[in-house]
Amino acid sequence: MIPLLKQFPGIAGSLSYISLADLPTPVQHLKGLERELNRRDVFIKRDDLSGALYGGNKIRKLEFVLAKAISEGAVRVITSGAAGSNHCLAVAMYAAQCGLKADLMLFAQEKSKAVAENLLADYYCGATIHHDKTYEEHLGSTRSIIEYYTEKDGRAPFIIPPGGSSVEGVVGYVNAAFELRDQISSGEFSCPERIFVALGTMGTAAGLALGIKAAGLPCSLAAVRVVPSYVADRKKFFTLLDDTNRLLHDADSSFPICQIDESDFFIEDGYLGAGYGIVTKEAQKGIELMSRVDSIKLDGVYTGKVFAAFLDSVSDERNGGSSLFWNTKNSRALPQEAMKIDYHRLPGELHGYFQ
Ligand SMILES: *Cc1c(COP(=O)(O)O)cnc(C)c1O
Repeated sequence: MIPLLKQFPGIAGSLSYISLADLPTPVQHLKGLERELNRRDVFIKRDDLSGALYGGNKIRKLEFVLAKAISEGAVRVITSGAAGSNHCLAVAMYAAQCGLKADLMLFAQEKSKAVAENLLADYYCGATIHHDKTYEEHLGSTRSIIEYYTEKDGRAPFIIPPGGSSVEGVVGYVNAAFELRDQISSGEFSCPERIFVALGTMGTAAGLALGIKAAGLPCSLAAVRVVPSYVADRKKFFTLLDDTNRLLHDADSSFPICQIDESDFFIEDGYLGAGYGIVTKEAQKGIELMSRVDSIKLDGVYTGKVFAAFLDSVSDERNGGSSLFWNTKNSRALPQEAMKIDYHRLPGELHGYFQ
């Protein structure tokens, strides 16, 4: 049983949960980076290996989100994201595994090889793909699709917010902090002084910040913002965190109401660059370094930017104590058969991503 549910029977009794992930994920020394920097206390949390089908940070969230959909008797889930969204792909894969239909409401994104590959995999998993050129059109399409299915299925589809960052999704990362606590208390390694993670739709960081506090871990969390501040800011972050805290406390009163202050959590604003999905020079440098010294593949949208912040921190001699890089990117290979699909079979408005 996962540590959060083991420790809080009230939560286990009131929240639905389905096991999809391979947990716990390993914590390892970044040996190559330690050699490079002449340090001995640089760690990585391998959430890139969180699922056998597909890893990354969306799987822990989906354990609670898809379980809720199933418990409500849903037949179909709808979610949205940019064309190459890792979240949408995770939903396509794991909804299919749970016997749920999935509709993905996508909007245009800069084209890249990774975007094209995710689209092929979405299609391969049997998801119905919708795509709009602008965000406004996307919102309109989403509204009409929900109406259409409510009529057709005789019930409203289950809606998963972008990034899976509903309160249930956040609970997946509260558990991740308790998992880290167990790994620390088993003596695998000592508590890191600083943890670095991405801040996108904020579910991952909100769950970790809450879980770290509730589990009593003496470390601070740096959330590296990779989206514009109208998507992620302190106020929205604490609303999500407090709502999740309330849900867990109401389910089991021994789960504490937590007060998180500046020394526990901060938003690192300096690494976004020109915008979401636009790689920075520092991220590119970090991607190359990690690939060279530790053979870990990072991406330019999320983890490369987080790693740039991490690298600046661990290279700073004033920062003693150990540091942990929380890897949120999938590192499982996408299904080979999916990569062989002729893109002409996908909806016409997606063909541009392959040309
Ligand atoms: C979705 C995603 C994130 C962002 O996580 P949030 O919970 O949305 O803040 C970070 N890294 C990768 C690789 C992702 O796909």
